[in-house]
Amino acid sequence: MTARVLDGKKLAEEVRAEVRVGVDRFRAERGRPPGLDVVLVGEDPASVVYTRSKEKASNEVGIRGTLHVLPASTSEERLLTLLAELNADTTIDGILVQLPLPPGLDAQRVLDKVDPGKDVDGFHPINAGLLALGRHGALVACTPSGCMRLLALAEANLDGAEAVVVGRSNIVGRPMAQLLLRANATVTMAHSRTRDLPAVCRRADVLVAAVGKAEMIRGDWIKPGAVVIDVGMNRIPRADGKTRLVGDVAFDEAKEVAGVITPVPGGVGPMTIAMLLANTLEAARIRA
Ligand code: NDP
Repeated sequence: MTARVLDGKKLAEEVRAEVRVGVDRFRAERGRPPGLDVVLVGEDPASVVYTRSKEKASNEVGIRGTLHVLPASTSEERLLTLLAELNADTTIDGILVQLPLPPGLDAQRVLDKVDPGKDVDGFHPINAGLLALGRHGALVACTPSGCMRLLALAEANLDGAEAVVVGRSNIVGRPMAQLLLRANATVTMAHSRTRDLPAVCRRADVLVAAVGKAEMIRGDWIKPGAVVIDVGMNRIPRADGKTRLVGDVAFDEAKEVAGVITPVPGGVGPMTIAMLLANTLEAARIRA
């Protein structure tokens, strides 16, 4: 059996097209576009690329994207002052502080200062708490929301399904598990202390890998016919000295066993920015 491979790029395009329609309507009703402000502190090369692509993607769907670049030497006080200004600006609907922050800045303390109504990353304790309580109105972290859209595309029946999420980070694993629980799956959260991880994974009708370890999840860890969502993004060296991007799942092995699988690249990755745009529109609508 060879798995159906989900096209995350195409689905992300569809989400962006939906957002574009919503943005046009918002602008017609409100006389202004939704605004997303992205804050980058320092010059971490990956963060520079991510923040520029977030700004560009926003502008492409009609969201007014603004990038604030601060030097790595920025004090916490200066950063919090900027956040207070962005929180107070009524034309800004979404605020995103790019992680990781340079040493000396406490990410948790900084993120806690983002207005929860503008927290389009869904990292604020109020949004994470609403999600954990199963209450509506939360802005939900973008990568797990993107995974849920991929599961919908896969027509995965989550009701009563055995779902295993490998990884328990606040940005992926935990919110992912909460979303699966909300969809009535029976959820196991696995992590670095989990005993016999292969056996735990083999139980999964739906397996979400968010570990950050290249191709750790092997084909024989997968239940035949399972839906496999690979969040991992790992750069490994190639023979020619360059690098290539691989997931947390050994794709070539897994696709011979799974029913549906996401590739890396081209699976979850493109969905994350698309869901950021969707969250910005949602935050704008809620605030309006
Ligand atoms: P973190 O490093 O924050 O979390 C990794 C999790 O994996 C931890 O919970 C850790 O367990 C667990 N883990 C580590 N090693 C093992 C192991 N050997 N067995 C079982 N569990 C293990 O990573 P993130 O959640 O931020 O990211 C995970 C991956 O997803 C990365 O590759 C990242 O690049 C990618 N990513 C992709 C995104 C996208 O848009 N596609 C967005 C965000 C992340 P413990 O808690 O016990 O330490």
